[in-house]
Amino acid sequence: MRLIFATNNIHKMSEIKDILGEKYKNIVFLMGDLDVHINPIENGKTFGENAMIKARALYEELKNKNKILPNDYIVADDTGLCVDYLDGAPGIYSARFMGKNTGQEEKNIKILDLMKDVPDEKRTAHFTTNLAIICIDKDKNPTNMSFEAGINGYIAKKIEKTGGFGYDPIFAVGDTSDIEKGQVKTYSNIGMAEKNKISHRARALNLFVQYLEKNHNI
Ligand code: IMP
Repeated sequence: MRLIFATNNIHKMSEIKDILGEKYKNIVFLMGDLDVHINPIENGKTFGENAMIKARALYEELKNKNKILPNDYIVADDTGLCVDYLDGAPGIYSARFMGKNTGQEEKNIKILDLMKDVPDEKRTAHFTTNLAIICIDKDKNPTNMSFEAGINGYIAKKIEKTGGFGYDPIFAVGDTSDIEKGQVKTYSNIGMAEKNKISHRARALNLFVQYLEKNHNI
């Protein structure tokens, strides 16, 4: 059995490997490990549709290159930050917010700027991860499956520590009342080990792990 992830994002991948842990270490592969690369247009209307576009693209590419094996799982993660005050933006456009070539720090600063006068209790936000999975059976036939999970939190008032990646420095877990208490816990603040215990990605991957452990002898 192999879990082949449709990503080139080294941050995502190191989180995925950390969350899945030792037990899965030898069966987790990046598409690059198999010398396969995809760059599909993510024009879906939901995280689920975009995740499936990536999973499908990787499946087709692996199939064309004759690299599919029985019992493979082809997995794509589509994630986004949804800010309530911004009507759910950037949402499915999280990667393309302000244009594909805009640096992440600029995006984070822009969100803080858009929210500079927003009172604490209206700063709520959530992260969602959808995992689209193509399961290959023993005869190499594909079936689709997906898991989605999220975490509620809020947008901090300033960049809190620059560790982590993406929107980690501005997304905080917990309740907006933590702002007044001076206890803002952005993903960057809590660090990767803690993030990986509670994050949107950990929650979605844990649903997948539950499925795997029920259906395979791992
Ligand atoms: P995608 O899922 O690769 O399309 O990523 C969407 C956007 O969300 C990118 O800008 C990522 O940097 C950002 N992103 C994805 N996962 C996380 C995360 O765990 N923390 C912070 N930002 C993230």
